[in-house]
Amino acid sequence: MFVVDRGMWDAQPPRGGGFDALTPWRVKGVVIHHSGVQDGAKGTAAVHAFERHHLGLGWDGIGYNWLVDETGTIFEGRGWGARGAATKGWNSRSISVCYTGWGFRQPHATVLESIKALVDKAEEHFGRGMWVSTHRRKGSTTCPGDWLGNWVEGGMGDVSAPQGVDWDALIRYFNGLRAQVDAAPLSRWTRSRGKTVRLVQTRLTDRGFDPGVVDGIFGRRTAKAVREFQGSQGFLKVDGVVNGDTFGALFLQ
Ligand SMILES: [Zn+2]
Repeated sequence: MFVVDRGMWDAQPPRGGGFDALTPWRVKGVVIHHSGVQDGAKGTAAVHAFERHHLGLGWDGIGYNWLVDETGTIFEGRGWGARGAATKGWNSRSISVCYTGWGFRQPHATVLESIKALVDKAEEHFGRGMWVSTHRRKGSTTCPGDWLGNWVEGGMGDVSAPQGVDWDALIRYFNGLRAQVDAAPLSRWTRSRGKTVRLVQTRLTDRGFDPGVVDGIFGRRTAKAVREFQGSQGFLKVDGVVNGDTFGALFLQ
């Protein structure tokens, strides 16, 4: 577990000289949030996006006490000493933790570990027996999404692999796409766009390559990311074109 403090992610100084302090004995619980955005910014970029958004709302700075990104990395928002702004009506009585991914999907196990670790830390700061709840239980919102919400409200149990996934159906689906891509390869030169390009961009991002914004448009950065992926595999032609072989290597391995 890795914690990125405000200095490390280059947080703006709080407006008005400082955040309002929490009164520790009043803090009795932890409220879990999510980004509310599917395929949004990741890591430090997500944290900066929240800060910009919250400053735009007129808040003194980023509204959450802590954030957890999709790799489970923890980012300090307002920390343990300051009152958050993200859970209307509950900010002086709780610590807010935001998962910067999309809580309608099951997050990586490291995310869940980090959320649990933050709850443990909260109990070190504010005393044993803290309640843990969700934004949707404290306000009229779907935050933090069905999967994460159910996990939190269900007691934050251990979760190993995603459940209820029909892997055979998924493989059939990707094999169908692969056949389409083989018949009509995706590339910058053919000005490919659409859902399959978006899938390729998302998958490249998940595998650590940078196709730029996931927008379903096969542009220069996507081509560069495809070339880098192809080069990393060793057995693919490095041409920036997604044919059946490249698609298969990207998704089915
Ligand atoms: Zn929320």
